[in-house]
Amino acid sequence: MIVQRVVLNSRPGKNGNPVAENFRVEEVNLPDNINEGQVQVRTLYLSVDPYMVDPRLVDGHLSYFLGAIGLCGLTSLIGIQEKGHITAGSNQTMVVSGAAGACGSLAGQIGHLLGCSRVVGICGTQEKCLLLTAELGFDGAINYKKENVAEQLRELCPAGVDIYFDNVGGDISNTVISQMNQNSHIILCGQISQYNKDVPYPPPLPPAVEAIQKERNITRERFMVLNYKDKFESGILQLSQWFKEGKLKVKETMINGLENMGAAFQSMMAGGNTGKQIVCISEEASLPSL
Ligand code: NAP
Repeated sequence: MIVQRVVLNSRPGKNGNPVAENFRVEEVNLPDNINEGQVQVRTLYLSVDPYMVDPRLVDGHLSYFLGAIGLCGLTSLIGIQEKGHITAGSNQTMVVSGAAGACGSLAGQIGHLLGCSRVVGICGTQEKCLLLTAELGFDGAINYKKENVAEQLRELCPAGVDIYFDNVGGDISNTVISQMNQNSHIILCGQISQYNKDVPYPPPLPPAVEAIQKERNITRERFMVLNYKDKFESGILQLSQWFKEGKLKVKETMINGLENMGAAFQSMMAGGNTGKQIVCISEEASLPSL
């Protein structure tokens, strides 16, 4: 079977713009039949992105392109910028659910970086709570599996909640929304607690919570990072700069081996990860030479 592949033909060189001739399409012969243990894939679409080539952006941590200096970081940054309405210096309190996960752990830090005076995270274990407050700069953390979220929120957010970065939906979000201030904002990032239920997206709020949302004029607009591609390049540069300056700490949970992909997905959905869940396919992953 003859297939086409795209290879790097040449480099643009220092300060040079890439040109089409830097890539070459060539044909190679592959066996017609695959053997036991092999898979055959057909490429439907190829993505071209401005930020995928330069390992210096992540100080060589290539996996960060899958998380903090990739879509997760962009989701947190652009979500907050577009839907959070932070006004630096105005003493706003942000609450983040799914706070120790890939997006949540970044969202809380970015909330501080962009000017929130107080950031409180909600997550599923004591270890995660400790990570948030001791390492990532959160002002408080609530273990939703062990603590009374409503009581803890009242204690940790005495001036109410101005911005809610919502990763989870369901009971946790209903509780947070009930403590949100007039004219406050929900960043509707995700609703993981509802994904395995047969409900529309975004899931409607229970009537009593919806009444609060309307009465207090709380915004809850759908957010989808892929609608903001024009902001990706500047977003990646901002995330990389914060990371290099030590202002944005990156957490990952690494599992080795393609065969563990399913287990990694199941573990992530059940809260087994801290920061971005990554599956490492090749321990020989190394930096391309510059
Ligand atoms: P993640 O937070 O790294 O992993 C999922 C976490 O969700 C788990 O670690 C678990 O942590 C928590 N969780 C699972 N079930 C839960 C439940 N029933 N109630 C409360 N927490 C639960 O995943 P991620 O990749 O960063 O994604 C986070 C959210 O962002 C997801 O909803 C995802 O769909 C959304 N997202 C949205 C966009 C966008 O464009 N809007 C882009 C990317 C991701 P605990 O131990 O704390 O339970």
